[in-house]
Amino acid sequence: METNMQISQTHFLQHQKPYRIWKLIQIIFWIIGLAIFFALVFFPKTGVLIFWNILIPIAPALLVFATGLWRNVCPLSTTVLLPRYFNLSKRNRMSVQWQTRLQFVSILLLFIIVPLRHPIFNNNGHATAILLMMLIAIGITMGFFFEWKSAWCSTICPIHSVEKLYGEKQWLTLPNAHCTACANCSLPCPDSTPDFHPGKAHKSLLQKINALLIIGGLPGFIWGWFQVPDIQSPIPHFNALSTYGLPWIGATASIILFLFLVSFLDKKSTEILIQMYAAAGVSIYYWYRIPELFGFSKFSNDGLLISLKNSLPQWVVTLFVITIIVIFIWWLVFKKPTKKSWLIRPAFVNRNNQSIQH
Ligand code: SF4
Repeated sequence: METNMQISQTHFLQHQKPYRIWKLIQIIFWIIGLAIFFALVFFPKTGVLIFWNILIPIAPALLVFATGLWRNVCPLSTTVLLPRYFNLSKRNRMSVQWQTRLQFVSILLLFIIVPLRHPIFNNNGHATAILLMMLIAIGITMGFFFEWKSAWCSTICPIHSVEKLYGEKQWLTLPNAHCTACANCSLPCPDSTPDFHPGKAHKSLLQKINALLIIGGLPGFIWGWFQVPDIQSPIPHFNALSTYGLPWIGATASIILFLFLVSFLDKKSTEILIQMYAAAGVSIYYWYRIPELFGFSKFSNDGLLISLKNSLPQWVVTLFVITIIVIFIWWLVFKKPTKKSWLIRPAFVNRNNQSIQH
């Protein structure tokens, strides 16, 4: 009978050719990412349009249906893993306690950075490029010390907790295009664990707090974020109260509601509530974001991709948004668990001789 390790290795070997194809796709996306970065620096208006109004609006839907695709092609992820690819990493194993602490930091970063989009980043390519450079610097520094995705993608990346909330049910399980062999760097590995969500790892108090913050807080945070207009000024303008007030009040309110509801529920019903909160998060996002993209924002031209205001009646956009929200709710709440992980775990490495274990 095959052990789990052998099964993993068999999968890995079966996917050698796809792995090479994925490497090519990864490089293409890395070059696209680099081009967007240069656009942010040298053509800031175009860079902002591509980064904030095309790339980022696609991301939540991608995380819902194919989180592994995002994990394989994210240019930031590829960049911070460069020390590992060039054998410059010390490849230390991070303790579970530190993984949990950094995941807490990643949620704080999400709740601190995202509101800054309104006064600073949404209309400022240079500021966005500096933000990306800072995140890359942190990620690469971590990459010099820690093994594979424990350095960034599965710990401190501000998007990671959102990946875990939205990515419970997967349409696709893809080959892992980063880890050449599994060093068990992340426990549990979010890429390789089927039906993973943030509530699944909650043994310690901090793990419970992390789960509560992201599951309970995200829908209200997103709602509050969309109630704040962009500051249309070439000079970054910051007012802490108007920047953070509504997003953080929204997050607090939805956490309190979550705790209230959970107090009446058993384990199975709590799982459904978590799925409902995930569906609420992504639905609220697109409820506001799609009209904004096409010129129907309540705040003049905030988040505009292309204005269809004079060529399309608003009810068409509303109907479209309701349709995709129904799809999200069906997928995240009513669809049976898919029993799929984001990515296929590669063969385990033998850490004594750094070879693949047979
Ligand atoms: S597959 Fe293994 S090496 Fe890659 S992120 Fe998961 S635990 Fe780490």
